[in-house]
Order: sequence, then C-alpha cells, then structure tokens
Amino acid sequence: MRLLAYWAVVFVVAVLHPELASAADWQAGFSKVVITPEQPMFASGYGGRNKPSAGQVNELHGRAAALRDPSGKTVVFLSTDLIGVPVKMAKVLCDHAERKHGLKRADVMITCSHTHCGPALDDKLSYMLDMKEEDWEQVRRYQQILNAKLMALIDRAMADLSPAKLATGSGVSRFAANRRDPKGLGPYDHAVPVLRISSADGKTLRGVIFGYACHSTVLSFYNWCSDYGGFAMDFLEEQHPGATALFFAGCGGDQNPLPRRKVELSQKYGRMLAFGVERVLETRMKSVGGTLRTDFRHVDLEFASLPSKSDLEKTLKGSSRYERARAGVLLEQYARDGKLSKTYPCPVQVWELGENVTWVAIGGEVVIDYALRLKRELGNNRTWVTGYANDVMAYIPSERVLKEGGYEGGSSMLYYQLPSPWKSGLEAAIVNSVVEMSGDLRKQSADSN
Ligand SMILES: [Zn+2]
Repeated sequence: MRLLAYWAVVFVVAVLHPELASAADWQAGFSKVVITPEQPMFASGYGGRNKPSAGQVNELHGRAAALRDPSGKTVVFLSTDLIGVPVKMAKVLCDHAERKHGLKRADVMITCSHTHCGPALDDKLSYMLDMKEEDWEQVRRYQQILNAKLMALIDRAMADLSPAKLATGSGVSRFAANRRDPKGLGPYDHAVPVLRISSADGKTLRGVIFGYACHSTVLSFYNWCSDYGGFAMDFLEEQHPGATALFFAGCGGDQNPLPRRKVELSQKYGRMLAFGVERVLETRMKSVGGTLRTDFRHVDLEFASLPSKSDLEKTLKGSSRYERARAGVLLEQYARDGKLSKTYPCPVQVWELGENVTWVAIGGEVVIDYALRLKRELGNNRTWVTGYANDVMAYIPSERVLKEGGYEGGSSMLYYQLPSPWKSGLEAAIVNSVVEMSGDLRKQSADSN
C-alpha cells in the first residue's frame, strides 16, 4: 500500500509537474570565506616586488559549490582569489574531502583566479620572490591558515546541500587580448560559460559559476586585490543578495586584459564580465538533466633537457637572482633523489555535467590554443576549459607556442624552478587524455541509460 502511494506521488510529480520532478533531483550547497592575509606579507605574481604587501582594495575570498546529482554523486568546486593552487594544498584539501565526505580525487576541482595581487603561497613560484627566511616563515604560516579555512569551506558547502535546479548557457565578454607579439592579433576566446544554480522552484538564484580566459594581471602594486574576476563575483553577489558567484580562470596563459594598471580598469573588466554573465542568466538556459561523471589523471609532461649538477653549481655563483634560485631548488632535488625528474605530472580532470556540458580542468597556465582545440574536438557549445586547476606549476604552451618560444613557450620555466622548456608532444598528450577521458565518461552515461 505504502509502495502504491509512493508511485502515485512519483506519477503526479513526474507527469503532471515535470518541472518539480527535475528540480528535486539535483542539490547544491555554497560557502564563502575571507582569505585576505591579516599580516603584511609578500604578494605573488611579480618577481620585482621587494617588500611585503599590506593595504587592500577589496577582500580576497575562497568560495565553494557542492553539486549532487539525482544518483547521489557529489562534487565540490573551489574558486579562490589566489595566484595558484599549490599541489601540497590540493592534497591536504582532497584528503580532507575524502576522509570527511567520501569524495574521490576526481570529484574535487580546485581553481584560482591567478590574481597577481594575492599572497605568496608555499609553492614553487614563490622562489622567484626576493624573500628572506622570515618572509618565508610568514608564507608558511599563512598557508596553514589558508588550508584550515578551505577545509572548513568545503564542509560548509557540503552542509548547505539542498534541492536546486541547474541550467547552463554561454555569453561573451570582449576585454581579453592575445599578449604575444604581434600583440592583439593572435587567437583568443571571448566565451563566458555560465552554470546557473537556482532554488528548487527556479525562482531564486542561489549560485552562479562562470569562467573567462584572461590573465588576472590588471594590477601589480602592494595592495591586496582580487582583480577583475573578484570584482565580477562581488558585483554579481551585490546584484543577487544571498547568491554565491564563483569565477574560474580559463586558458588565459597568453591573454591579457589591456590596457592595465589602474584599479578602475580592473573594476571595469569585472563589470564587463559580470554583465556578460547577467545577459546569460536572463536568457532561456539549457536545464541540466542526467548525471555527473568525473575522472582525473596525471599526464607526465617531459622536459626538453636536464642540467648537470656541475652546471647548476656554476649557476649558483652567477649574477641572476632568478637563475640562482632555480639552481638552488634543482640542486636540492639532486641531493634528495640523486637525479632530476625527467617529467612533471600535469593534472587533468573531466566532469561530464548532465548531458550538455563537458567541463575540462587542466593544471598550469594553459594557453588559449587548448580551449579552441578542445572545443573543436569535444563540441563547441558544450565544452568548458578551466586552466590553473589543481596545480599551477608552469605555463602549458601549445605545440605552436612551444615552437615560437618566448615567455609562455619556455623562458617562464625559470620562475617555476623547472629545468628547461617542455619537450615537444605535450599538446597531443594532454588533448588525447582529455578526449579519451570524456569519451569514456560519455560512454558510461550512455550505457546506464
Ligand atoms: Zn600568469
């Protein structure tokens, strides 16, 4: 009898009120925390800074969204106003998410806005800063506080899970320009992918996740600032009280917001991006049905060459502070492991979100060619590509950019303490992995239908 009543309810909901049936199927939860350093400390992103940063233009935040599909599969997405995602921090957060919430590595996506007015982190990039031991101690203390705040952030997003309606769409914002020479003429991607998460009745906006492929380098001074991505989130949250806005950086490794260097410009780009998101929210968006499927793996990227120990010892006596810092880090590796690693494991993650979205996340400062190619290979209207995800350990040039050379093609490796430019073949390795992962996940979805 009880079973009969249950099926009667299912029938009424599914047939007479289909909008309620799909609304009840998904859940979402959100949380937000201030992560602005409380003490003066070094900012990251520019090696030329010679003293700690102190003042602030706006607060830096960490934001989390937990999403649960109708089968109970749950993922957590993190958006942070940080320069990078230290791989050690990612491990702490993912271990916590597994222990406390049973989430697998593939179910947690950790991203950063790559703001160049955020704190230095306990990560390789900080070796390019002119820091003394006491500055490093401050960085490590901040990292501990940050780790604790982000673990709690995940817990609060999970605790907030409640019925939600998801829909996707895509907009446009036009301030990113290819920064490689000749400036402004190279490829770009002005798309703004948007995930709208509303209350179960669809009436109230609870959260919005959106991305854009452009470096967060408008500002380079000594004040904390979230840059354009943070301003876009702040603006959307002002417009929709109670909602949480989460930004992710796309493949903007070779894209800059031009012109730069004024707070007003950073705010203007933030508004432009937020307006791009608002326009999508006002349109008829595609509702997310189906389920979530996730995968994560490391793609081993090879270095072109490795310096010998004696080469590095010579460099230690050289005049370049950056060269000396890298030589020091690599000599430590020789002392610890007896050799240098020939490869670096680049994290690659794929989320198939319902039937309409393939969400790809790649570690490092990924250049725009990856977004354009993956959209061609996986479907232009359905593919979102996040860069700076799960680890930011180097630039990830395409084969074209690697061949052309320049900063993103190779010379930037110095600032990440890596031995040489990448070896040819990395684009194929990354793209093939993503295409294979997405294909497998889509097949699993099809088989279960
Ligand atoms: Zn960068």
